[in-house]
Amino acid sequence: MTKYIFVTGGVVSSLGKGIASASIGKLLESRGLKISIIKCDPYINVDPGTMNPYQHGEVYVTDDGAETDLDLGHYERFTNARLGRENNITTGKVYHSVIMKERRGEYLGNTVQVIPHITDEIKSGIRKVARTSKPDILIVEIGGTVGDIEGLPYLEAIRQFSLEEGRENVVFIHLTLIPYIRSAGEIKTKPTQHSVQKLREIGIQADILLCRSEFPISKEAREKIALFCNMARDMVFQAIDVETVYEIPLIFGEQGLDTQVLKRLGIKAKKGDLGKWQEEVVDRIKSPKRKVKIAVVGKYITLQDAYKSIYEALIHAGIYHNAKVEIKRVDSEDVSRIGAASNLEDVDGVLVPGGFGSRGIEGKIDAAKFARENKVPFLGICLGMQTAVIEFARNVCGMKKANSTEFDRKTRYPVISLIEEQKKVKDMGGTMRLGAYNCSLKDGTKSREAYKRSEIPERHRHRYEFNNRYRTDMAKKGLIVSGTYKKADLVEIVEVKGHPWFVACQFHPEFRSKPDKPHPLFRDLVGAALTRQFLRDKEE
Ligand code: GLN
Repeated sequence: MTKYIFVTGGVVSSLGKGIASASIGKLLESRGLKISIIKCDPYINVDPGTMNPYQHGEVYVTDDGAETDLDLGHYERFTNARLGRENNITTGKVYHSVIMKERRGEYLGNTVQVIPHITDEIKSGIRKVARTSKPDILIVEIGGTVGDIEGLPYLEAIRQFSLEEGRENVVFIHLTLIPYIRSAGEIKTKPTQHSVQKLREIGIQADILLCRSEFPISKEAREKIALFCNMARDMVFQAIDVETVYEIPLIFGEQGLDTQVLKRLGIKAKKGDLGKWQEEVVDRIKSPKRKVKIAVVGKYITLQDAYKSIYEALIHAGIYHNAKVEIKRVDSEDVSRIGAASNLEDVDGVLVPGGFGSRGIEGKIDAAKFARENKVPFLGICLGMQTAVIEFARNVCGMKKANSTEFDRKTRYPVISLIEEQKKVKDMGGTMRLGAYNCSLKDGTKSREAYKRSEIPERHRHRYEFNNRYRTDMAKKGLIVSGTYKKADLVEIVEVKGHPWFVACQFHPEFRSKPDKPHPLFRDLVGAALTRQFLRDKEE
């Protein structure tokens, strides 16, 4: 029988509920339990696929092709849970489903209301994951902050849920902020008291508090928090700021969070051991032996979260090589304004990530050119691959003004274009080429060498494709097609012949990288960058 942990957040957003939920998952897995995680997002979009990165950050794609919240990325990086469409519940999805049922007459003449119909739909979404994934513990993170209007139906739903499943089978964990007020020279517990109180008004008594704070919280302060929040003192945990997020499962573990959770749920489990995680992930991040600089050339580099999985995948590759990957965020529009050389001269590798729309495109093309000509290790991802192909067509194959039809519909050389299927698409939401497809790798290529396999599944999110009409011509000039999706004869990976490491893929490898299992392409990009750095240092 599945038991449940509900994670809510108080006081302010961005406290790291996603990381906290993922860390709890990691801790419980270390005790031999099977877990799964759901993110509930109170917005009315059906999924974040149609939102721009300024609104939402990265859109995380699962194997089954769902466009989901980036917290699912944290869950997958920290745990072994296999996540898909059902692991992200949104208000848009919930209402969509309820309205469809109403149109089919399934509510038998009743007035359809938030309670019970919307709340029932939320609960059935949670139960569905329990039924299909059969975890010992299902962690459900409620997005937003307690007190938000949009979040109310979710809180009401989990309140009902805890009664239906039995209060002893449910733990409510509340993540909150304990701010330090400099002028008073002390931490303040009042906002936390209020947010726990707000939860109580709704009928939810938090069982466990995770207190985010810059400084350690004293025993006295903890006692005070416990008293005002109506809970035992040992249920107040601190989540102090750390150097790397991968340390958080250790911090929680040291304080016995997993033990308290299991005690409450009446689950007996073996002892946990995160020693390997500590040694092979956390310690390596904290004391790297060398440093390497990789430029990420994109148009959303000012945003923290737009390339979240890419930044994490670079860190993972660094862990593998015992190197700190210093990420130089380069604005692609700057590259076209002031030139690639001045932006990229000092880096050991270049990564051009995915994206949509024409802004910043020429800068990405220039970055690929710079990397190709100067033999700088290069990884292009999705749009980064498409711009690398455009660059190669223009500057190596002499196809003047070659482009993707996304940016120039009438280009003479549409080296990237829509396949027939995509031309028919009218709706924007959920209609791209999405999710995992198998890619076959060509022997003797960098990609084949990286993966050490001939067939690999990778996740996609794009509409445009390499135009096969140009394949032979470009191959003649040295563009190697090293990966294809055989069923539809689509180009998935290209490489530049004679370059130390120039690989560009149509899929998103960043979604499959974990701290203790770096993605082969990221691993080898960073490896090649370290080699280049070594050779450059020797020359100097
Ligand atoms: N805009 C491009 C396409 O739709 C690339 C998408 C991406 O980088 N995710 O094909």
